[in-house]
Amino acid sequence: MNFTEFNLNSELMEGIAAMGYEKPSPIQELAIPLALKGFDLIACAQTGTGKTAAFLLPLLHQIMLNKKHDSNIHALIIAPTRELAIQIDRQLEGFAYFTGVSSIAVYGGGSGNDFEIEKKAIKTGAQVIIATPGRLLSHINLGYVDFSKLNFLVMDEADRMLDMGFMPDIQRIIRQLPDKKQTLMFSATMPSEIRALAKKILHNHQEINLAVSKPAENVLQAAYIVYDSQKIALIESLITDRDLPLVLIFSATKSGVKEIESALKKRKMNVQAIHSDLEQDQREQVLNNFRNRKIQILVATDIVSRGIDVDNISLVINYNVPGDAEDYVHRVGRTARAEKTGLAITFINEKEMGKFHRIEEFIQDTVRKLPLPAELGDGPSKDQHHDRSHSKSRNFRPKGKNNFRRPSTPKA
Ligand code: AMP
Repeated sequence: MNFTEFNLNSELMEGIAAMGYEKPSPIQELAIPLALKGFDLIACAQTGTGKTAAFLLPLLHQIMLNKKHDSNIHALIIAPTRELAIQIDRQLEGFAYFTGVSSIAVYGGGSGNDFEIEKKAIKTGAQVIIATPGRLLSHINLGYVDFSKLNFLVMDEADRMLDMGFMPDIQRIIRQLPDKKQTLMFSATMPSEIRALAKKILHNHQEINLAVSKPAENVLQAAYIVYDSQKIALIESLITDRDLPLVLIFSATKSGVKEIESALKKRKMNVQAIHSDLEQDQREQVLNNFRNRKIQILVATDIVSRGIDVDNISLVINYNVPGDAEDYVHRVGRTARAEKTGLAITFINEKEMGKFHRIEEFIQDTVRKLPLPAELGDGPSKDQHHDRSHSKSRNFRPKGKNNFRRPSTPKA
């Protein structure tokens, strides 16, 4: 299938071409035609599948179709985090470049000046608002947000918003919107609360379900059974002398993130951390440094595990086994975006074997356990852990001193 088959507005097609998109991804193939027909949608799709374009393209097409170069708010996109809001706005700017459609990303954490800029844009002409719930409510409460002409609502990562406790805010926002509008909901998982919300706010909707519980096929997964005290040395051994331009390390806690950053810095590695203690502009700076490859290694808490669009992450390391299987899938999904191959490695300590086994059951796969590099000494005993022999780690055979083979596809 080709993008031309959607019969999208010609200026929008120019934007798609300029963004370098050639073929729609599966979620785009499914969602775009239904959205263009005007259906409400609930789509189960994980980050990395191309879900952003799946809602942005129909939304922009509809605004163009109505030749609405006015200053009314036509579409609202609600997203759980400022990082995701910024990322959606960036994609929108790319697609909308030739269309003249205007947008503003509205998110907390910035300066007072940022609030004034948002206020001005909301009052004088942003046709699409991409917002985190709390910040949008602050503007709504001040009385100048006019949603009377709104005809498109998108909720991105709805399950994430539920986890973050945003549902009451979202209900409050939805009450401000006209009844007659098209609503698209995207969620990586479908807990009962999300189904209930969908039932309440969607009309005559269509449902799209892409398998969510497995990492993308092109992620090579592996794991080490390792004591906490060996982990920093293991990272060094995995990364040093290898062509891995962008490495993302997840740690369970903020303090863990800071400790890893300082331990790797001591080993002269090019690393920065991102966590919620940083001011908004510092967080953006760190992400930009990573994106622009000024830093090789980003250490992060969960705030960046979903939705952050950094291309070509060569290696994702789970410093701890993630709390649940969905988080594992999301974290691993930071690599191998859009048909590239990526590598994801999880460190399992002696207490986490059962937890990791549950993740393997969830993804219905056995992740290959690699032997530790000899210089690290022995790790925890493997007897306790449930290894099954039918690993399907394609192209991922033990090799060299670390038994580590980097994927061939990511470009330097
Ligand atoms: P998303 O799941 O929306 O976060 O998209 C994941 C990544 O894939 C982003 O870098 C997108 O720009 C990219 N992408 C999405 N759809 C396509 C497509 N049809 N062709 C090429 N790249 C795409």
